[in-house]
Amino acid sequence: MENTEKVQVLIIGSGPAGYTAGIYASRADLSPVLYTGMQAGGQLTQTTEVENFPGFPNGIDGNMLMSQMEEQCRRLGTDIRFGEVTKVTLGKEKGDYHTVEIDREKTILARSIIIATGASARWLGIPTEEKYKGYGVSACATCDGFFYRGKVVCVVGAGDSALEEATYLAKLCSKVYLIVRRDQMRASKAMQSRVLSTANIEIIWNSQITEIYGNDGVEGVKIHNKVDNTDTDIALDGVFVAIGHHPNTELVAGQVELNGEGYIVTHDNTTHTNVPGVFAAGDVADPRYRQAIAAAAGGCRAAMDAERYINEL
Ligand code: NDP
Repeated sequence: MENTEKVQVLIIGSGPAGYTAGIYASRADLSPVLYTGMQAGGQLTQTTEVENFPGFPNGIDGNMLMSQMEEQCRRLGTDIRFGEVTKVTLGKEKGDYHTVEIDREKTILARSIIIATGASARWLGIPTEEKYKGYGVSACATCDGFFYRGKVVCVVGAGDSALEEATYLAKLCSKVYLIVRRDQMRASKAMQSRVLSTANIEIIWNSQITEIYGNDGVEGVKIHNKVDNTDTDIALDGVFVAIGHHPNTELVAGQVELNGEGYIVTHDNTTHTNVPGVFAAGDVADPRYRQAIAAAAGGCRAAMDAERYINEL
């Protein structure tokens, strides 16, 4: 078949799991090919300071960390390609090749696949949110915060991401409302005390946005307080949604076993999925820890599992 290539290890995804899998598979002489997906570098490219990745005592910028992982991965021999996997047809028996379509035009036959496609931002799902995406509604303060210098914004959510976004925006914006749907926050105590001691962050408890309105851009939101059963308008210029993520498993749904929340199920404390030669690493298979360091460890384990699988064929 024209425009078809055979590879031993195909890695899908370019977050900490994908690049670490590339580093290990390269060193095992498996000549891995890695497709980055549309968001090269993954979720960490949308964060600011990463303080908890070991080896960086003063923290490291998320983009910098990912570009260093990419460089290391490439230097060791992974063929890193910017492109998107558009379709996957998995083999069934041990040793079968898996057929992978790239950008709807090229086909790769892969002996093994490491799925490291991560997770994506969740949205509120209210009708007016879609209308203003990119015009005042964002899921990434690091990407878009700059446009709201000196303005008033809100952040929705109460996990570490939301509080991190609020803290970041508070340095740029005149005022940040943090809209929390319960009477408590899920984020770590350290993040909570940072937010509580930031003068221009105001927490609005027990509330959810019911409408986002404006003209060319966002001009305000309506929020409903479910304890007082009241509705209030807040005038603001931007809405940052930080309410968690969902695993990117659409490509393999129906072919690989997923759990109730859509995460890939791995077996016997390995990265093996239920399909021979298909391995999963990082947030796509991790509903519990979802940390960069855990994803990197998953990438290492997946490459070692793939190596063993190929050696046994
Ligand atoms: P989480 O799942 O931890 O938090 C999601 C938050 O969004 C919760 O507070 C949840 O509320 C709220 N929420 C969910 N749906 C809605 C909705 N429809 N309307 C309003 N609020 C909603 O996600 P995060 O992205 O914050 O974090 C994911 C993981 O990444 C966590 O393990 C976190 O610790 C980690 N992380 C670590 C960082 C660090 O260490 N530097 C930085 C960022 C993330 P409720 O609590 O009521 O369910």
